[in-house]
Amino acid sequence: MPPLHNLILTKTVRRCAYLLGIFLLFPTMSFSQHVEGQSEDDDQVNRSEIKYKQRHSSLIANQENTFADGIKIKRDLSILQELQEERIFNAQGIPADDLYEGIWNTDYAHVYGSLKNIPDTFKVNLENFYMPTEGRVTSNFGMRRRRMHNGIDLKVQTGDTIYAAFDGKVRIRRFERRGYGNYLAVRHHNGLETIYGHLSKFLVEVDDVVKAGDPIALGGNTGRSTGSHLHLEFRFLGMAINPTDIVDFENFVCHRDNYTITKKSFRTPNKYTKGSVQYHRVKRGDTLSKIARRYGTSIAALRKKNNMSSNAILRIGTSLRI
Ligand SMILES: [Zn+2]
Repeated sequence: MPPLHNLILTKTVRRCAYLLGIFLLFPTMSFSQHVEGQSEDDDQVNRSEIKYKQRHSSLIANQENTFADGIKIKRDLSILQELQEERIFNAQGIPADDLYEGIWNTDYAHVYGSLKNIPDTFKVNLENFYMPTEGRVTSNFGMRRRRMHNGIDLKVQTGDTIYAAFDGKVRIRRFERRGYGNYLAVRHHNGLETIYGHLSKFLVEVDDVVKAGDPIALGGNTGRSTGSHLHLEFRFLGMAINPTDIVDFENFVCHRDNYTITKKSFRTPNKYTKGSVQYHRVKRGDTLSKIARRYGTSIAALRKKNNMSSNAILRIGTSLRI
């Protein structure tokens, strides 16, 4: 599973780089005075959006003549870049509190019906995403047996570790017999909330601060669930977004570093189900890669399922098996 290794490696490299960075910079810097008071982008709507990258950039700007044991340190841009990724949080604060108009409810997941100022567009920073589990997709977002399925199902074995998708704070840790089972909801600094359902065991408490990649629970089969899996939701101000619009579930990464939320983010996917077989009705502007991305599958898999040759034309109105 190379992507997992890569992630772990990246994290390790990041940590090493950070330690090395501290070692290199320590003789000439004072830690305390650089932390606060700078702002490099003022266009953020959201006060709680953490300014990830401000801490070290000013330190680094004046390191031209740094010496250690008489040897001039060759500045390593990659180390500096890694340093910038160290993030500062106020553990007492509520993530994205302004955006959520001060609502922080630790009893119920869906409490945002009264929100007044829903922005027309909002840019979500996805840079620190961590895949909650690497199980395959077993059920997609959308209508399913006449009910809306507001998340995506990923195969896990009971006891598999589930990781936080982004940095944030645990808002809900509860049991719901007819629905999510044991579930967690986490508010993130980037404005999203994620929900993790059917868990067998919690590893965090309400109000715990979590970082992307922290273990938060073990997967399971609690609540309305047949067979152990993780039910994963991405929500913005309570509204469900199709997770495949954000995450490439084949490669365990986000499609991009940012995701811009618009009204279109909340449309119901243009698909229906017949038994366990899913279809997508081809519409203007569709391409195989677009469809594949949307349903978390691949172009090759779509071609195979629909007996399409590599030069077949996608006709509007026809139904593709997903
Ligand atoms: Zn589900």
